[in-house]
Amino acid sequence: MPPAKQFKPESTCPCGSQKQLSNCCLPYIERKLLAPTAEALMRSRYSAHVLMAIDYLWDTWSPEERIRSSKEDIAAWASSCEWLGLQILETTAGKEQDTQGLVDFIAFFRQDGQLAQHHEVSLFEKVQQAWLYVGHQQ
Ligand SMILES: [Zn+2]
Repeated sequence: MPPAKQFKPESTCPCGSQKQLSNCCLPYIERKLLAPTAEALMRSRYSAHVLMAIDYLWDTWSPEERIRSSKEDIAAWASSCEWLGLQILETTAGKEQDTQGLVDFIAFFRQDGQLAQHHEVSLFEKVQQAWLYVGHQQ
């Protein structure tokens, strides 16, 4: 497994929030805080792809869905892409008091020299205070 990329805590967060990494996704990725909302988890999972924080991606993924992949697959995917940005289009529910939420987003990346984008409406569920990525709408 490749080591996590080193980003300075004061760098701008990859998720596009314009905040410093240390004031945005890093505390979640480092497990110092739980992401309070589905969107915060979504953003931190995007940043975890950029930072190659594979264990975080694994642990914030619904256990029922993990059987379809492996940490090695996630690492191979994340490292095969040059991550260019995240755009959140819409968030439905997924607030502190909710137990489910939807996040409509586009992730921009370059892979094999080609610009690409991944548009998905992700479903998140809160289990024991922690938001998990469950899957996406068809
Ligand atoms: Zn962030």
